[in-house]
Amino acid sequence: MTQAASTVRTCGTCGNLDATDPCGICADDRRDQSMICIVEDVADLWALERTATFKGTYHVIGGTLSALDGRGPEDLNISQLLARVTAGGISEVILATSATVDGQTTAHYISDRLEDIGAERGEGPHITRLAHGVPVGGELDYLDDGTLSAALKARRPV
Ligand SMILES: [Zn+2]
Repeated sequence: MTQAASTVRTCGTCGNLDATDPCGICADDRRDQSMICIVEDVADLWALERTATFKGTYHVIGGTLSALDGRGPEDLNISQLLARVTAGGISEVILATSATVDGQTTAHYISDRLEDIGAERGEGPHITRLAHGVPVGGELDYLDDGTLSAALKARRPV
């Protein structure tokens, strides 16, 4: 039996889905590997890729924290993100979780953990978030490319 060429793997670095692990984005040294954009799922990653605005890397956390659904940090791909940042060489982390309550709670949580790492090491990555333009309750993959691109370019410090 031959393995289908289109076998989809989960990237061990960022959680993206691709035919290779590491994925094409993590393996691309023309991209800025010191920038990590945090997204909830692979659909959001591809929404950002469509804008062709962002030339860094991603980290797919696999959803949001949710008190209602009983989803905690251990249910998301967050420890792997913290390990990437702890390993060093990361200059900026962009929080691109959705503008929902859960999305913002998740962004706050991650931002706090990243600040802890920064405090321990004496220096940490800049933490930014997407600017206004992302509608409240909006999911990234429903935004048109222009809106998303503008929100990314005008990102601001947390
Ligand atoms: Zn990857």
